[in-house]
Amino acid sequence: MHFVRDRYNRAMLFRSHVTVGLCGAALVARFQPAWLTPSWPVEAGWAQLRPLIESGAPWFTGLVDGAVHLWSTSGLAPLVETPIAYLLLVAVVGFGSLLPDIDHQSSRINRMFGTSRGLFGWLVHRFFRIFVGPHRTVTHYGATWLGLSLAVGYFLPQLWSPGAPYAVAFSIGYGLHIAADMLTERGVPVFGPFIKRRYTLVPDLLTFPTGSWREYATVLALFLFTLWAWGVWGWIVGWLP
Ligand SMILES: [Zn+2]
Repeated sequence: MHFVRDRYNRAMLFRSHVTVGLCGAALVARFQPAWLTPSWPVEAGWAQLRPLIESGAPWFTGLVDGAVHLWSTSGLAPLVETPIAYLLLVAVVGFGSLLPDIDHQSSRINRMFGTSRGLFGWLVHRFFRIFVGPHRTVTHYGATWLGLSLAVGYFLPQLWSPGAPYAVAFSIGYGLHIAADMLTERGVPVFGPFIKRRYTLVPDLLTFPTGSWREYATVLALFLFTLWAWGVWGWIVGWLP
């Protein structure tokens, strides 16, 4: 377990990654094109999924038919479909911004899914050590990000037609995780496996150690910038006496 305590091998803070991911999503949402507007059309979505599931589990399709019917006749749908779509979008960005650290045994995503402790956690960790590589390698390659983004971007809208904005959200979250790690002094081998060198986004002088006060300061600056881009900053200042 010694590598977990090793400062060089630590995962950047969970809350930093989530904040960076969500700020990125908020900035995209601020200037998003119409096709990126998320929707959550329950009836249409179910009509599309139904034939896929029907053959395997007819009792389940019956159950969902009932639930969808209740939903669409409840009168709630027009009120909450847009907020739910945005909540889902935020959740997808959050998921994407945590996923690369699945290669780190004590990362939050592994603790969330119980893959950090016990025999299962040990097996998952061995798997990553042997087949994927140590922390901040394969899951942090630019090529991995591109491959996953293309795969999700291609398959998700095929399975579910409103999927495109969520696929983009996943790609943004994942990409921003790598970009944020590239602000830390350890850097990221983004051009791996072709080039082993670790790169940083800024000159070494401006990078910071994981979990340092400068990490907080950078994330805070991004957060304030996001508020400013949304006009919230002006609103707060105008509201102050
Ligand atoms: Zn990372």
